[in-house]
Amino acid sequence: MQHFDQLLERAPYAHEKQRSVPMIDVPLVFHIEEVSGNPVINLTFLFNKLALVNTYYAPAHVRFVNCAPILYYESSSSVYIKNAINIYLNGGPNGCGSYAGGRIYINVNCNRTFEHVLAHELGHALGLPHTHGYTNTGTTTELVDGSNCTTDGDRFCDTPADPNLLNLVNGSCQYTGTGLDAKGDMYLPDVTNIMSYSRSTCVDKFSQEQLDKMYLVAQALALSCCRIDPPSVADISVCSGQKAVLTATTNLPMGILRWYSDPKGTLPLGTGPTFTTDTLYTSTAFYVEVLDSCISERSTVLVTVNPDGGLPLLDASIFAKLGPGGTQNGGSNPYNLTKLGDTALIFSANRNNIYATTHLMDTVFLLSDTFSASTDFNISGITPLGTKINHRH
Ligand SMILES: [Zn+2]
Repeated sequence: MQHFDQLLERAPYAHEKQRSVPMIDVPLVFHIEEVSGNPVINLTFLFNKLALVNTYYAPAHVRFVNCAPILYYESSSSVYIKNAINIYLNGGPNGCGSYAGGRIYINVNCNRTFEHVLAHELGHALGLPHTHGYTNTGTTTELVDGSNCTTDGDRFCDTPADPNLLNLVNGSCQYTGTGLDAKGDMYLPDVTNIMSYSRSTCVDKFSQEQLDKMYLVAQALALSCCRIDPPSVADISVCSGQKAVLTATTNLPMGILRWYSDPKGTLPLGTGPTFTTDTLYTSTAFYVEVLDSCISERSTVLVTVNPDGGLPLLDASIFAKLGPGGTQNGGSNPYNLTKLGDTALIFSANRNNIYATTHLMDTVFLLSDTFSASTDFNISGITPLGTKINHRH
C-alpha cells in the first residue's frame, strides 16, 4: 500500500482527474450509402476504426458510441436523428470529410486514412478548429514564439504555430516546409496533431487544451441516444371556443405519453394517450413525446381553430318552422334548436358549446357549455352574454 500511496503522491492531479471526471458517451448515428445495394463500408472495419478513434479521445474522457440502428440510403439522405452526431458515409467521389451543424460527411474512398478523417471531423463536432486556424485553406497568423497564441491560429497555446501542413509532411513524418512567420521565425509545427492537415499516417493525438475543450463541449451538448419512435398523432380542427381532445399512440406498450405547449418546455401539460386542451380561440400547436427506455423526439399536433367553422347554416326560416317556443332535437338537422320567444334561437349539438343567434341570423354568440337561459341570455333585451363570433353566412 505504501508503494501506491507514494505513487499517488507523486501524481495527485492525474489521480484526481481519473477519479472525478466521468466518461461522457457521445452518440453517433451512422448513415451508410449503398451503391447497387452494397454498403460503401464494411461494419467490422467501421467499428474497429471507431474503437481506434476512441483511444485518441480517451484522454478527453469522451467516448463515441454507436446509436443503433444504422441507416442505409441511396445517393443522398435527408434523414437526421436529433440529439446525436449524424455521420453520413458515402462513396465519394470528391473530398474527404466535412462537418456542419451536427452532420459529418465522410468519403470512404478519400486518400486519407478513415480513422484520421473520422477523428478529425469528430474534433470539429466537439468544437475544435484546425491547428492552422479557423480556415480550411491558407496559413496562420500565429507566431512561432507563441506570443499571440490566445488570439491567433487555433487559440490553443499548447499547439505550436501551424502554417497549414497540407503536402508539407513527408513519409517519415517530418515537416518539409520552409516558411517563416511574421517575425521571421521558422515554423516547428506538430505533425502528429489530428486537427492538422498533416499526413494521415502521422497523426494520432490531441493537445491537452484541445482535449479539455472537447470535454467541455461534449458536456454542454449533452447528446443522448434515443431511437424510439415518436408518438403518432393527427392534426385536428375545432370551432372557436371549443376544447380539443388530442389522442396520440405509441408502439411502445409501456410508453408514457407526455403533452407540452412548446417543443422544448420541461413542464408537461398532461400525461396519457389523450389530452384535453383548454378552450381555444386561435390555432395552436401542441407537442407530445413518449417516455420509455429514453425520451423520444416530440411530435407536433396542430389544432386548427375555425372562427366560424362548423357553425350551422341556419336561416330565418328556422324560426317559422319551429313556431313560438318550439324545439327541434336531432332528426335531419344535426343541431338541437330551441326558440326563445320570436326573437332568438339557442342551438347546440354534437359539440360542447351552446350558441345563440338573433332572429335575423346575422350574428352568432358563443355561450358557455353551462349555459342557463335566465342568467346567460336576456330574452327580453336580446342580450346574449357570450362571445360574438362571425357567422358562416
Ligand atoms: Zn477539418
